[in-house]
Amino acid sequence: MKIRQYMGIDRDRISWQPYIDAEKCTGCGTCEDFCPNDVFGMAGDVMSVANPLNCVPACDRCAGECPVSAITFPSKEDLLKQIDALRRSQAC
Ligand code: SF4
Ligand code: SF4
Repeated sequence: MKIRQYMGIDRDRISWQPYIDAEKCTGCGTCEDFCPNDVFGMAGDVMSVANPLNCVPACDRCAGECPVSAITFPSKEDLLKQIDALRRSQAC
């Protein structure tokens, strides 16, 4: 699934995606199996964020599925500030 807009903002203007700590990742595949949006893909022995724009802004559910806590996200507070700034710039 490709998200084209979020809260009236083009998805490709929004910075929101998972980040994977390659030092922690064991390549177990749990995150890839869990996410329905084809965000992840293996890169050698570790997982990579193959399609970051497929990640739904404000979703961070896969982070809790990783058995070694290798997945992190930006703060949701920063996301809301970012969306607010983008909406203001669009309104001008
Ligand atoms: S946060 Fe949600 S949409 Fe994004 S990669 Fe994780 S499960 Fe998929
Ligand atoms: S769930 Fe965690 S350890 Fe497993 S592949 Fe994804 S990031 Fe790596």
